[in-house]
Amino acid sequence: MNGLPARRLLFVHAHPDDESINNGVTMAKYAAQGAHVALVTCTLGEEGEVIPPALAHLTADRDDTLGPHRIGELAAAMAELGVHDHRFLGGPGRFRDSGMMGAPQNRRPEAFWSADVDEAAAYLVEVIRELRPQVLVTYDPDGGYGHPDHIQAHRVAMRAAELAAETAYRRDLGDPHTIGKIYWNRVPLSVVEEGFARLGAARTEMSFPGLASPRDVPGVVDDERITAEIDADEALVAAKTAAMRAHATQIAVDGSFFALSNDLAQPLFAREYYELVEGRPGAAAGEREHDLFAGVEA
Ligand SMILES: [Zn+2]
Repeated sequence: MNGLPARRLLFVHAHPDDESINNGVTMAKYAAQGAHVALVTCTLGEEGEVIPPALAHLTADRDDTLGPHRIGELAAAMAELGVHDHRFLGGPGRFRDSGMMGAPQNRRPEAFWSADVDEAAAYLVEVIRELRPQVLVTYDPDGGYGHPDHIQAHRVAMRAAELAAETAYRRDLGDPHTIGKIYWNRVPLSVVEEGFARLGAARTEMSFPGLASPRDVPGVVDDERITAEIDADEALVAAKTAAMRAHATQIAVDGSFFALSNDLAQPLFAREYYELVEGRPGAAAGEREHDLFAGVEA
């Protein structure tokens, strides 16, 4: 099909950096296996804060050039993961970062949060019908942690999956395609607890001044809800870590911990976890999949 590899996997994220934090190992693993790994990022992350003091002038309240800078960071991160197909929803700058929930930026007409879901989803339908992925990965309805752009990315991704499959919908955007499996990004509670225990034990050797809390980790659920886990070897963890470092305005990494602009350390998770919300599980009842394509016909 269009010369694309047999296995095709699509990730939908809100801002540059979310993909490396949540899915860096998974993306690198499938890219190395020759699957087609595609990323659609919905905004440029223009409203983010900036960690390196030398780049502080990029922020929205000063030069407002963080968006274009983050396009470069994302490209560098994707090079680390071996992912060649990364795009912005509707093209770079079509939708702007909405800022944190309740911020006045939420209400700007160009903010992703203000976008009509169906209108935004049409851009993604075109990508889905072009790439015909068997697997889609995005956030849960809360966006993992309530950021408006993450919630909106969830809505747009789920709606686009539905519209892409509808035979009567916008044939100018390509032939209908049904995505076989849809997953939400997850972290099991036990893994978060273990990660923060490790963090507490290592705090004196770390460069970060404070510790984040388990509540800062997006997508945490009880272990029973996890349906898939993707294991990492040393090379995959190195690729994920390098991709996170490439987002230098947003992330500082120290060993197996990292911090966002709040400077609070949190564990960097090597293994990545998912909850299957649509499609048939490829593992026996009560067991976790170790491959997101499990049970999928190529
Ligand atoms: Zn984000």
